[in-house]
Amino acid sequence: MSEKVVTRFAPSPTGFMHIGGVRTALFAWLWARKNNGTFILRIEDTDKNREVAGSIEHIMESLRWLELDWDYGPDKPGPWTHASCLQSDRLNLYKEYAQKLIDKGLAYPDPYTDKEREAFRKKAEIEKRPFLFREHRPAMFETWDGTKPLRFKVPEVKRYQWHDVVRGELSAGPEMLDDFILIKSDGYPTYNFAHIIDDLEMGVTHVMRGEEFIASQPKFLSLYDALEIPYPIFVTLPPIMGPDGKKKLSKRDGAKDLLEYRTDGYLPEAMRNFLALIGWNPGGDREFLPESELL
Ligand code: GLU
Repeated sequence: MSEKVVTRFAPSPTGFMHIGGVRTALFAWLWARKNNGTFILRIEDTDKNREVAGSIEHIMESLRWLELDWDYGPDKPGPWTHASCLQSDRLNLYKEYAQKLIDKGLAYPDPYTDKEREAFRKKAEIEKRPFLFREHRPAMFETWDGTKPLRFKVPEVKRYQWHDVVRGELSAGPEMLDDFILIKSDGYPTYNFAHIIDDLEMGVTHVMRGEEFIASQPKFLSLYDALEIPYPIFVTLPPIMGPDGKKKLSKRDGAKDLLEYRTDGYLPEAMRNFLALIGWNPGGDREFLPESELL
């Protein structure tokens, strides 16, 4: 591989880390270390209502316990123009990119009130069709003054095809494309927008994340295209399943805080090994792989 590998783990600080999330971090870390690359811990703190105090420290402590060290993180700014690994410190960067889209005619302020939007949604529901904001796109765009949500004008409504390292060839139709919000009326970007700009500025080569984002992939691709950003390599990790084998493991199934396992006396090597082998193994009946082999 000619390009230096850069991976990231990008949790939102909304509470403790459970094993599903940490497994994603483990794979992103392993891939970076195997390739002498860079591993970034980025905090996606753009939803202030969902933020739980102490989460960032808790996330760092969880990764430290498993000895998943990061090259850049909340405590180690990166060498980029916008150095902080906390999205809330990077708002100017998102505004710059929002302006680029406005200049290209590809972003506009949402002119509707909550009530009007709700009425559109209800109407679609009654008519049993998906609610698509782009069907209500205004004919003329107002100037954005930051008080209204800024929406992306999806440039081309088409079927998208893409490659996922784990899942193979994937595709999704126009119903998955919409004029989603880029910047909310509180000035914070949405996840859909911010992560793409950050991955670009941070030079992320492999986007390794959980399955819950796969349905949004066409939206992401339409934004990469609008900004003429080359796609990174997409690696969608399968989730750890709950006891019924149908839904992913959730806090409701009793998935507990990773650090509780430390309190219970589990060794970090055992936890790492468990996370690495749940859902994959190299064949045979070996139950322990040392770090050198995991890499
Ligand atoms: N902030 C997202 C989460 O907590 C990260 C998704 C991603 O890795 O792109 O799930």
